[in-house]
Amino acid sequence: MAVLRQTLSYAWNGFLDLVYPPRCLICEAEGETVICERCAAGFTPLEEPLCATCGRPQSPGVPCPDCARAAKRGGWGFDAARAAGIYRGPLREGIHLLKYGKQELLGEPLGAFLANRCLTEGLLPPELLREIDIIAPVPLHWTRQWKRGFNQARLLAEPIAQQSDLPLSGELRRIRRTPKQAMASGDDRRRNVTRHMFVADRKAFSGKGVLLVDDVFTTGTTTSACAAALKDAGATKVIVVTLATGG
Ligand SMILES: [Zn+2]
Ligand SMILES: [Zn+2]
Repeated sequence: MAVLRQTLSYAWNGFLDLVYPPRCLICEAEGETVICERCAAGFTPLEEPLCATCGRPQSPGVPCPDCARAAKRGGWGFDAARAAGIYRGPLREGIHLLKYGKQELLGEPLGAFLANRCLTEGLLPPELLREIDIIAPVPLHWTRQWKRGFNQARLLAEPIAQQSDLPLSGELRRIRRTPKQAMASGDDRRRNVTRHMFVADRKAFSGKGVLLVDDVFTTGTTTSACAAALKDAGATKVIVVTLATGG
C-alpha cells in the first residue's frame, strides 16, 4: 500500500511539475529551488565600516547619525543590531514578495540565509552568541497575521532556532495595530509604539539574553519598542538581527 501511495505521490508531483514547472519565486527563472542561484548571489552583505551598536553603514571617524538620532529620543531599546544584507535588488524583492505577495515559501530560504549569516559567517560573533538564551520574532498584530496567514519574522527566526538549538518564543505580542504614519513621523508617536508591545509570559524572558528577529531594519522604531518590552519583562540583553537594512 505504502509503495502504491508513494508511486501515486511521485506521479502527482510529476504532473504538477509539468503544469507548473518549478520556478524561482523572485525572478521566475525556471529551476529546482525557490530562490535561484543568481538571485541568491545578488543578496549583498553590508560593507564595513558599520556602527558597532546599530549595525548601520557609517562614515569613518564620524559618530553614527542613526545612533545620534536615537539618543535624542531616549536611546535604542536594544543593545546591538545587525542586518544580514542591503535592502535592495533580489533581497528587497524577496522580502516584499514574502510580506505583501503572501509567498510563504520564501520564508524558509530567506531564514536559512539569515541563519547562515548569523551563525556561520560571523554576523553574530561568538561573544554575542554566548549571551543569547532565547529567540523572539517581532510580532504582528493578530489581525494583520490573520490576513497574511503567517508572521514573516517567525518564518525567518525558525532556521536560526533549529541550527542554534535555542528555543523560539511566541510570548512577545503586539496588542495594538501600528498605523504606517506612526512609524514615519513624530517622536511622541514613536514612543507610543512601545505601548503596542506586550509580553504575555514575563517568565519566558526574565534574566535571559534575547535574539529579536525581524525582516527589515529601517528607523529601528519597532525593534526598539519590542526590545524595551523585553527588557521590562526582565531580559538582560536584547540583540536584534534582521534580513536587511538600507545601504
Ligand atoms: Zn531568481
Ligand atoms: Zn549606530
